[in-house]
Amino acid sequence: MKLKDKSCIVTGAASGIGNAIAHRFASEGGKVAIADLNQDAAQKAADEIKAKYGTDALAIAMDVTSEQQVDAGVAQVVSAWGGVDVLVSNAGIQIVNPVENYAFADWKKMLAIHLDGAFLTSKAVLPHMYAKGSGSILFMGSVHSKEASPLKSAYVTAKHGLLGLARVIAKEGGKKGVRTNVICPGFVRTPLVDKQIPEQAKELGISEDEVVKKVMLGQTVDGEFTTVEDIAEVALFFAGFETNALNGQSLIASHGWFME
Ligand code: NAD
Repeated sequence: MKLKDKSCIVTGAASGIGNAIAHRFASEGGKVAIADLNQDAAQKAADEIKAKYGTDALAIAMDVTSEQQVDAGVAQVVSAWGGVDVLVSNAGIQIVNPVENYAFADWKKMLAIHLDGAFLTSKAVLPHMYAKGSGSILFMGSVHSKEASPLKSAYVTAKHGLLGLARVIAKEGGKKGVRTNVICPGFVRTPLVDKQIPEQAKELGISEDEVVKKVMLGQTVDGEFTTVEDIAEVALFFAGFETNALNGQSLIASHGWFME
């Protein structure tokens, strides 16, 4: 049991990758707070986890762009479980458009969810982690933390930015026992990706099948999607790592799409 009785917050855990991470953490004994904009889905996910693993789970209504909601959600977890051991800042959306058509409001929304979300959740949990002298923060980056693709200006900018923020917190938190790392998945078949397939097909003037085979998987070594379970395993590896040797790092899981 790598996370026995650890208090874990996963944002955006009502769906997709975050949901798989919450399940994997609970399967290793972790108590998980499902912090999500979608309150009904968060409650359903928390109920499922409690029933399946017998560990405690909480549904937290949280818009990660709201300082007040983030602070209140973290306070709720601290009051229930006495602290926070693991934060996974994962909530995210995608909006695709070429720069000349990218609405400024969409740009700001993207940066707010991905960057303000990571900043605000980290800011809220750090005092509790520092008080204990330990903690593990994970940001959900992307291959787009390292690589660019057309139509994704805000997403690529935000995902690159997460690397910088993680490295700063790694340096500030390292001396206080807190580590911060970034997971960089390739394409994972979740609602976030399903939504972009027809949008990219329309924008690029190609079929949906071509979007999947050429745009999304064309540069992998085997034409395979990364899965939510793959990313949950990487998250468990970082969260459950016994020492703070891994700090300020980013790990790409993308079927060889991007190598470094
Ligand atoms: P998803 O759409 O399945 O889940 C995203 C979750 O985030 C949803 O439950 C949604 O309600 C929640 N959310 C959205 N805005 C929120 C907000 N403001 N506050 C709180 N919760 C909010 O998407 P996913 O594919 O699982 O994506 C999760 C993360 O993984 C994102 O950061 C995404 O950028 C990243 N990622 C995804 C892929 C992929 O291919 N799916 C690849 C690399 C990185």
